[in-house]
Order: sequence, then C-alpha cells, then structure tokens
Amino acid sequence: MIVGDWRAARVVDVSDATATARVLRVTVPGWPGSDPGQHVDIRLTAEDGYQAVRSYSLGSYGADDTIELAVDEIPEGEVSPYLVRDVRPGDELEVKGPLGGYFVWRAGGVDPVQLIAGGSGIVPLMAMARARTDAATGAPFRLLYSVRTGGDAIYRDELGMLSESGGVAVTWAYTRAAPPGWDGRVGRLDRAGIEAAIWSTDRMPAVYVCGPTGFVEHVADTLVELGHDARRIKTERFGGA
Ligand SMILES: Cc1cc2nc3c(=O)[nH]c(=O)nc-3n(C[C@H](O)[C@H](O)[C@H](O)COP(=O)(O)OP(=O)(O)OC[C@H]3O[C@@H](n4cnc5c(N)ncnc54)[C@H](O)[C@@H]3O)c2cc1C
Repeated sequence: MIVGDWRAARVVDVSDATATARVLRVTVPGWPGSDPGQHVDIRLTAEDGYQAVRSYSLGSYGADDTIELAVDEIPEGEVSPYLVRDVRPGDELEVKGPLGGYFVWRAGGVDPVQLIAGGSGIVPLMAMARARTDAATGAPFRLLYSVRTGGDAIYRDELGMLSESGGVAVTWAYTRAAPPGWDGRVGRLDRAGIEAAIWSTDRMPAVYVCGPTGFVEHVADTLVELGHDARRIKTERFGGA
C-alpha cells in the first residue's frame, strides 16, 4: 500500500554483520528499482502514533523488490538501536524511495573509480562494487575502507572475495586495532595513507566518499590537497562527528 510517498514494507531477513551492525532484507511491493548508491527513508511508527524517520543507503541495487540495508547502531540513538537489536522478520515498516540522484554510479563507464568508506559508509559503495562486478564493465575499481578494528568491517567476507577475484582492489585502514599479522599503520587515515591507497591524480578517477561527517570532510579536503579535481569527488555524509 502507498500512502503519500510511503510504501508499506516487510522485513524478511536479518543477519548480524558485526557486533554492532545488522543487515536487513526488506520486501517493498511495487519497488521501482534503484541505481547503485541511492538510499531510502525509513519511517517507524510507535503504538502511540509517534513517528521517526531516518535515511539508510541501499546495499542492493536494481529491480528486485527485496532491498538490502545495513544499519550500524549509534549508542544513545533513537532509531538505529531498534533496527539493529529489535526488528524481526515479519515486522512492518514504511519505506520512501529510492532517493538521491547524485551519489550514484551507473555501469557502462570505463573511468577508474575510487571508493572511500568509513564505517557504515561502505553500504552505498557496496552497491556500486556489486554492480561493477555484475556488469563486468572493465571500469577499474579500488576501495579504501577505514574501520575501527577488523571486526567492525561490514561485508568483510564479500569484500575479501571481491578483492581476491580481482574485480575491486580493497585496501583496509584500521583506526584502533588491526587484525593479527597486519604490518601496516594503525590510526586515522592521514594524507600519506590516503595517497598510497588510491588512484593517482593522473588517472583522473571518479571518487565516491561516504561515512560519518568528520571522516568525509577530512578525506575530501585531503583529496583536493593532493590535487584531485573537486568536481570528480562525490560525497555522502551519514551525520555524527
Ligand atoms: C543519505 C544517508 C544514508 C545513510 N545510510 C546509512 C546506512 O546505510 N547505515 C547506517 O547505519 N546509517 C546510515 N545513515 C545514518 C542514519 O540515517 C542515522 O543517522 C543513524 O542510524 C543514527 O540514527 P539514530 O536515530 O540511531 O540516532 P539519532 O537519535 O538520530 O542520533 C543520536 C546521536 O548520534 C549522532 N549520530 C547520528 N548519526 C550518526 C552517524 N552516522 N555516525 C555517528 N554519529 C551519529 C547524532 O549527532 C546524535 O548525537 C545514513 C544517513 C544519511 C543522511
């Protein structure tokens, strides 16, 4: 049922992604399909009628009416603890979307693509990586993914497979603690770490940066300092510090 722009949707599957994040699969009857990188708004209504709306990126793309979200719990948050801890298969929620026409990648291009994610910012970039792998367009993809620890990586196993199969070259950055055997640096991404992990300016990559606001601003500023064309850098801010 559609009321206004809102569609009634049903959660069909939930699975743990990390200790604090969960992947939700949600069937949305009448879903019109989405491009990689788009998001939806989710509306929850309490028994007393109180409503809360938050945006969530789509890890899925395309026409399938079962969409995928990955939600990381924000301590003290209003909506994310419910989606991560309480929601169950069979529960209903309302979905508006797909939304956003700017932070998208469409298969077919051959320009190098650089994805840079912090935390749950991986979600829309995962949709792009999946689309690239499915389309086998030839566009070379790289991903730089910054997480607190190895256990905080959403889609860790799938990214390992994408990296091994050669479709998307993945570089990890650990801000708090690295997995055993890691001989790289541990700490927030700095200029040298970013420069070493991404396409050089002469390749003129299309760059997509997504994550918490502070992360996105730091990375985007650094990219411009390194000489990347600001017009080729697209950003999506998830809020918070
Ligand atoms: C376009 C878009 C796409 C998004 N996609 C995703 C997604 O795929 N997965 C996902 O987990 N989240 C995503 N978010 C963030 C999401 O919309 C919520 O902001 C987040 O789940 C927190 O909501 P809350 O109600 O739990 O916290 P709130 O009650 O809204 O906030 C509680 C406190 O946490 C801070 N805060 C809010 N959001 C964040 C954040 N992302 N990081 C750190 N601190 C924060 C607030 O400033 C506030 O102080 C997206 C946001 C946008 C704008």
